[in-house]
Amino acid sequence: MQKLEELFTGKAKSVFKTDDADKLILEFRDDTSAFDGEKIVQLERKGMVNNKFNAFIMQKLQAAGIPTHFESLLSDTESLVKKLDMIPVECVVRNISAGSIVKRLGVEEGLDLNPPTFEFFLKNDALHDPMINDYHIRSFGWATEEEVAAMKKLTFQVNDILTKLFDAAELLLVDYKLEFGRFNGEIFLGDEFSPDGCRLWDKETREKMDKDRFRQDLGNVIESYEAVARRLGVEL
Ligand code: ADP
Ligand code: UDP
Repeated sequence: MQKLEELFTGKAKSVFKTDDADKLILEFRDDTSAFDGEKIVQLERKGMVNNKFNAFIMQKLQAAGIPTHFESLLSDTESLVKKLDMIPVECVVRNISAGSIVKRLGVEEGLDLNPPTFEFFLKNDALHDPMINDYHIRSFGWATEEEVAAMKKLTFQVNDILTKLFDAAELLLVDYKLEFGRFNGEIFLGDEFSPDGCRLWDKETREKMDKDRFRQDLGNVIESYEAVARRLGVEL
């Protein structure tokens, strides 16, 4: 597999073409951003930790029947993935209230949500990723009704698989964001699943072990990502 020119530089990952038109290389960088790219710093080892964390989770999801873009780990910071035609929406499931929903609805942090909530956001930093609904997605042609249904179904299936996986590691999966894309007419899970895109709390103490440590200046950001990885059995 040959790594060719860079196709896109995101906030946390760089995307490279390969000599296979159907495959891309994702390079996980140490750049860490919050508040739509307003706060950016480099956190040593983050690229490596998130690349390996993501590979571990994607393989678990794949084994449980979720179609994912993940192909293989290429190095400490690079993974080979299927090239998807990305749908520009973020799918968020919340099991416990935290983050934007607390501000938006004026609810307390830490409430158990039964059933878990589902939200779509438009992937657009300039507009601060506004919340949208199924109709916006269909009316503006970002995805079809069938694709919307597939994304919702897969996002909830991921919740069933991962809440159990994290529970066994004494962690609460508070919320998470997924992105999907098309490959040969089918919907695949793309992008990444790492502590950058989910909230994880210690089950006993409810200590935050995810990107909120960076957002809220709590310190020990990567140390916490590594602690989560160790609990799950991810080899770093
Ligand atoms: P951001 O877009 O938020 O700055 P990243 O730094 O993570 O995020 O950039 C990675 C980019 O690659 C994102 O735009 C994401 O949608 C895209 N991407 C992720 N997986 C794939 C894939 N399999 N095929 C094509 N694009 C992908
Ligand atoms: N999230 C993400 N990327 C985004 C927005 C949110 O990965 O652009 C994740 C975030 O880490 C959290 C979940 O989606 O796990 C819900 O985020 P929320 O709406 O609470 O927004 P936040 O306040 O975290 O920006």
